[in-house]
Amino acid sequence: MSELRRDYLEDHVTLVARARAQPRERCPYCRGSEDLVAPAPMVFRMKGDGPLTRLKESEDERVSDWDLKVLPYDSPLLTDEPQSPRELAVPFRRSDPGSGVHYVIVPTPEHGVALSQVGLDRMSLVVLAIQELGKELYQRRGVNYVAVYYEERRDFEGHSLVHVLGLPEVPPAVEREYDAYRRYLKELGTCPLCAIADTERSGPRELLSDEEYISLFPWAPTSPYEAWVLPRSHRNRFYRLTMPSITSLAGILLSTMRAMAQAARDYYMVFYTGSLKRSSMNFHWSARLYGGTDPFQGASLGYGISVVSEPPEDRARALAKHARRALAEILMGDRGGSA
Ligand SMILES: [Zn+2]
Ligand SMILES: [Zn+2]
Repeated sequence: MSELRRDYLEDHVTLVARARAQPRERCPYCRGSEDLVAPAPMVFRMKGDGPLTRLKESEDERVSDWDLKVLPYDSPLLTDEPQSPRELAVPFRRSDPGSGVHYVIVPTPEHGVALSQVGLDRMSLVVLAIQELGKELYQRRGVNYVAVYYEERRDFEGHSLVHVLGLPEVPPAVEREYDAYRRYLKELGTCPLCAIADTERSGPRELLSDEEYISLFPWAPTSPYEAWVLPRSHRNRFYRLTMPSITSLAGILLSTMRAMAQAARDYYMVFYTGSLKRSSMNFHWSARLYGGTDPFQGASLGYGISVVSEPPEDRARALAKHARRALAEILMGDRGGSA
């Protein structure tokens, strides 16, 4: 059983993972593998230009012609089963964070297709599924934060998955960011993310933008490749995006992901949003993409000092070229990507 543990003194949290994926003869995430996995609590079917259908599977009724589905992950980092008795009771800790839930969004039935290579319609559906699943998880008791995580490796030959974790509490990195956000809000009298979007717009670190969203390389990146995608004007409700706004976000995200896949090879993406369980926790949301394997990971993990070997402006220039080309491809009907 995996376990989430908090440090004795500091606020860091460690995930002690013990789950191991079962070796399988067939990929459990391909169409036709419904017998290998649990029923999907959420299934989407896209029908040409027709309406989007949302379904739900049961043990007896499976959907074989799905386009996207949500499944409980088969080697979960967290589970909501009762925890075993603690080996060590730390007297000054009231409780450890403990349990949670782990789902995956299977963004395409096609095996071996990276998320950065799907089309705009499918990427929009992925964002919609993140929202729908997130809202459902926030309704559960014990889930106080929904973390969304995607990782893409160029040499990966498996099935692309977007991980969605229902955590018992807000992760420390998000808490820290929120504290800093509130401090700046108080000092500046204005939202710092709005100020960042405004300052970086059309500057040397902008990758691309449309009416609603901007993708940029931050001033002080924590790794050689880092990109932020955020709404240009103040938005603190990620889970209430309208369909046109989802499509616009999908276009900017997808272009940024393709640029990262080109320039950084390997990257991962997380979403920084407030918690729906904490009404006071309102902040301008964003998606963060981090590239590759950092050669100075030891320093960054050990001391919290990030080391990058090139100014972000130079990296941004290279990345922006890829991102803009990707956007042009996406808008022209996406001949390079798969539907
Ligand atoms: Zn597969
Ligand atoms: Zn703002």
